[in-house]
Amino acid sequence: MKVLLLGKTGQVGWELQRSLAPLGELVALDHESSDFHADFSEPERLAETAAAIRPDVIVNAAAHTAVDKAESEPDLARRLNATAPGVLAQAAHETGALMVHYSTDYVFDGSGQRPWREDDATGPLSVYGQTKLEGEQLVARHCPRHLILRTSWVYAARGGNFAKTMLRLAKEREQLTVIDGQFGAPTGAELLADVTAHAIVATLRDPAKAGLYHVVAGGETTWCGYARFVLAQAQAKGVTLKAGPEAVKAVPTSAFPTPARRPHNSRLDTGRFQNTFGLVLPAWEKGVSRMLEETI
Ligand code: NDP
Repeated sequence: MKVLLLGKTGQVGWELQRSLAPLGELVALDHESSDFHADFSEPERLAETAAAIRPDVIVNAAAHTAVDKAESEPDLARRLNATAPGVLAQAAHETGALMVHYSTDYVFDGSGQRPWREDDATGPLSVYGQTKLEGEQLVARHCPRHLILRTSWVYAARGGNFAKTMLRLAKEREQLTVIDGQFGAPTGAELLADVTAHAIVATLRDPAKAGLYHVVAGGETTWCGYARFVLAQAQAKGVTLKAGPEAVKAVPTSAFPTPARRPHNSRLDTGRFQNTFGLVLPAWEKGVSRMLEETI
């Protein structure tokens, strides 16, 4: 089996390089790759890449993920998040490949308290959310044999992340101020990559499993709850902090205005994914603890 991975250097892409390797021959590209064209800002040329490689599976982990910046560059965000995945999906369909694509809780308007289900009405609040939604729609339209995985609050051990920022600030300051009005589940790139590999194998065996799924870690928290958990874990591991979990002050989202609006309710119902693939999505605390173990 041949797998083509786009966006190999991103949080999820990096972990996919590991989790997809056992499936067969893996061709992993980023936009600086010299052998094949993989720059999403020139979407039409991605078809040439897919035609030359002729993969059995295309996994797209590349995206315009700078949520606030997308507000001022909607054309580029649309090219990366919608047009390019659409071109890849068309190429996948033409060669009979399975198309795997990631999307986001930001396709919803964040109203209510209930975890969103796959068929709930969308209503993006930002350019990022809108262009990701358009990307989903193009992938589904051009390649019926697809897995579209909506996730949220992705972190990875490699590179910067929210937990590392909180740890750094808690060593420098007596008090931290963190927003408390958004609800979701921090989800490890590692977990996403692992369940993606499982889902690919299962869908290749049973094409009826193709479709749209919500995939996040179990449970829920707020950014404030997340920060407190990180600091408590760090203290338990013997890290000296100026600000412990009790020194994290909760503030409403409006305290930190940003160009892009974020949904308040980012809870995603993962029942369909867990039932279809027979997988368990562990509590978010497990993945974050493990990441801290590697980081501290
Ligand atoms: P990252 O921002 O870590 O990675 C994005 C990838 O896209 C990088 O490899 C980046 O390359 C690549 N990229 C950027 N511009 C281009 C371009 N012009 N051509 C080709 N590649 C490009 O994203 P994540 O791993 O966090 O996200 C993976 C998926 O999950 C995305 O679809 C995202 O929308 C979705 N998602 C992410 C969430 C999050 O919290 N991060 C939440 C919900 C969904 P380089 O680094 O070299 O620029």
